[in-house]
Amino acid sequence: MELDKVYDPKKVEKKWYGIWEEKNEFRAETDPAKKSFCIVIPPPNVTGVLHMGHGLQGALQDALTRYHRMVPGTSSLWLPGTDHAGIATQNVVKKSVEQQGADPKAMGREAFVAEVWKWREKHGGIITEQWKQLGASCDWERERFTLDEGLARAVRECFVQLWERGLIYRGKYIVNWCPRCQTAISDEEVDHKEADGHLWYIRYPLEESEESLMVGTTRPETMLGDTAVAIHPDDERYRHLKGRKAILPFLDRPLEIVFDDWVDPEFGTGIVKVTPAHDPNDFEIAKRHDLPSVQVIDEKGRMTREAGAEFDGLDRFECRSRIVEKLEALGLLGRIEEHHLAIGHCHRCDTVIEPLASDQLFVKMEPLVGRTIQAIRDREVRFYPDRWAKIALHWLDNIRDWCISRQLWWGHRIPMWTCAGCGEVIVSREDPTGCPACKSSTLKQHEDVLDTWFSSWLWPFSTMGWPDDTEDKNYFYPTDVLVSGYDIIFFWITRMIIAGFEFTGKAPFRDVFVTGMITDELGRWMSKSLGNGIDPLEMIDEYGADSVRASLIALAAAGQDIRLSPARFEMGRKFCNKIWNAYRFLRMNLDGNGGPGVDEARLDLADRWILSRFQTVVRQVDDGFVNYRLNESFAAVYGYFWHEYCDWYLELIKDRIGADGSPEERTHALGVAVRVLEGAMALLHPVMPFITEEVWHGLKDRGAADLICGPKPEPDDRRADPEAEAAMDLIQSVVRSVRETRWRVNYPLTAACRILVRSSHPRDVETLTVHLPYLKRLARIESVEVLPAGVTPEQSVGDVIGTLEVFVPVGNAIDVDVEIGRLEQELERLRSRLEGIRKKLANRQFVEKAPADVVEAERKKEADASEQVAKIERTVDSLR
Ligand SMILES: [Zn+2]
Ligand SMILES: [Zn+2]
Repeated sequence: MELDKVYDPKKVEKKWYGIWEEKNEFRAETDPAKKSFCIVIPPPNVTGVLHMGHGLQGALQDALTRYHRMVPGTSSLWLPGTDHAGIATQNVVKKSVEQQGADPKAMGREAFVAEVWKWREKHGGIITEQWKQLGASCDWERERFTLDEGLARAVRECFVQLWERGLIYRGKYIVNWCPRCQTAISDEEVDHKEADGHLWYIRYPLEESEESLMVGTTRPETMLGDTAVAIHPDDERYRHLKGRKAILPFLDRPLEIVFDDWVDPEFGTGIVKVTPAHDPNDFEIAKRHDLPSVQVIDEKGRMTREAGAEFDGLDRFECRSRIVEKLEALGLLGRIEEHHLAIGHCHRCDTVIEPLASDQLFVKMEPLVGRTIQAIRDREVRFYPDRWAKIALHWLDNIRDWCISRQLWWGHRIPMWTCAGCGEVIVSREDPTGCPACKSSTLKQHEDVLDTWFSSWLWPFSTMGWPDDTEDKNYFYPTDVLVSGYDIIFFWITRMIIAGFEFTGKAPFRDVFVTGMITDELGRWMSKSLGNGIDPLEMIDEYGADSVRASLIALAAAGQDIRLSPARFEMGRKFCNKIWNAYRFLRMNLDGNGGPGVDEARLDLADRWILSRFQTVVRQVDDGFVNYRLNESFAAVYGYFWHEYCDWYLELIKDRIGADGSPEERTHALGVAVRVLEGAMALLHPVMPFITEEVWHGLKDRGAADLICGPKPEPDDRRADPEAEAAMDLIQSVVRSVRETRWRVNYPLTAACRILVRSSHPRDVETLTVHLPYLKRLARIESVEVLPAGVTPEQSVGDVIGTLEVFVPVGNAIDVDVEIGRLEQELERLRSRLEGIRKKLANRQFVEKAPADVVEAERKKEADASEQVAKIERTVDSLR
């Protein structure tokens, strides 16, 4: 069968994915004779579509899973699933219901939730299909959903256990309220964005006095909810105000003057207003001083009746401008300062967060974190790169209680009931039928659902059947590594470790592999609002999944962010074609289906070298996979395959497999070439599964065996051959040098040349003489002659390689005078260029002010140019 000249992933990728699935090769058995390897997927939102972040993390997880699947005696599981994503999903379905002209509120809870399930049936599988296009070898039979029956049981068990231990409490609390999503969100879901705002100074008259106070605020509209002003107890300036009261403008509400340590005397005038209902710090001050709380902004971000008739119903930002205007008119506005501040925005919808006091449920976190802190400190759970451990620890050391109630319909409903008869609160594993205290059967369930992360923090073991003791859990848990971006270290990774210790007594995973984030070329995160995203599915369509995976993994260096543009995927595509060309070349030379053999007695220098180098590469690949430096693994095979196997080895065997070689020699050389190609395919398979499976099968009839099942190549010390490597290194250096010389002096490419060599190591000269056929094939060197000591050959270009001197006589092949003239012109041009670069580098302003990488680039240019100058000077000298 004729192979395509250019590799076409479309003909290969779908085919192999289908075969692997059909043969159930992603299935991980719980085989006691094998050791387990397991990764649970960070469950993407069920509403989601695949983005580049998934592409990167998916490629890494799949490569790890495939690598371990190829390790003999290992049962390797990548456990897939999706997240019900409370807020995001509810918003999507709400919008679609509204578009059909219905009102979700009027529909009622039950009907709406039924709509969401319907929506999930229809669209929930989209992202799963997209994972498959990337080549994800998940065990799809084990797919879970954070809202499926088993996980619902796990969530309920966890809630009840925490409740029974007294770690869940309800209370009025200041929460981060999103007026658009209409729910409380956790601290971690608030994005703090730097902004230029103002600090307004407002005059509050003192009661029964002509005097007044000046308070500074960044949110004038909240003044309507003030119930006090506060001063630091040590602030001498205001000592006389003790026991007096201020009057709130507009509403004439008397305000207590309290003295509290929290106030910063340096901020503004040293007097701050206290709005307990709309500021977390003021909420705390109010608790300490027993102050009343007045809510002036409602759940929609509008002013309430409490704000007074003239502001009632206004939007909070509109109210702000109105207040400022009125204060000015009344002469109560002092100066206005520019003020830089961080404003909290909703992580989901980007609306400015409104701190609101409301009834919520919380988990006391402090009693839960001890074991996790210890495990991270002792490196029982390891972060790669290590720096994230410190950041996780800092968060854990300063842990705050976790607000877990959400005012949504879509999610795990809180298993808490209140008795209408006696007010008893019932929290239970089974739905209660009556009140245990008064026997009343009128019970009302809590309206809220649990934060989505309250189900995902159980993910590593709830997916395996917890709270039951299942075969899967006993075999695959604890899992091995969690792969995730650093954006959800607090939301999720750290909480999973906490839950693992609390509910299973074990850390849920041994390693945490923290990946960088994908940004655009300017270093900005990809987002819908910026419109700078790159669609992984479009890229897969254009370049093929192997190219996309290989390019992403090659770029993923030690958790650094990746600046991505579509052009980056060219690397993967070119590499696929390089593999394809090598494969085509061998296929054209392979006779029938016999499969060539390797004759150990016939191994020549090139064979020994390429097989020896292969052992090193196997070790480098293993190393990268064990230490989560998959980019280094990939770079090792990439460099070997392209620059050693294709550039040198396949060139070198052309004589042996051509018409001049004996049939035995031909079979043998092809045998080595095929063996190395097979090995390289096995090493590359975890990163580029499709093309490697195709090539591996195309080289030989493999029966039912597929590369995906391994085994992976193991280093074979018997093949390690430092002597062969040193000899090949010398030959390559001589070839490179002679090629460069020929190129520099315009020596005709088709003409043969001689070389004269001299070395204090007779071995070097011998290597070159014995392997003259290599030199001939690679640089058209016809003969190697030994040059006596003290002699400088005429009209020759010389070079020094270690202890070896190499001269190429050029007098016969070129017009020496013409070439000298040309080279001198070249020298003049290069020297003036070098001078320019040096001037730039001598300029202190440039060196100090330009970005470091620009200066670095200029230094490199200088080094390159001066090396060029030196080389040409030498060439001209030797030509003379
Ligand atoms: Zn929101
Ligand atoms: Zn009761």
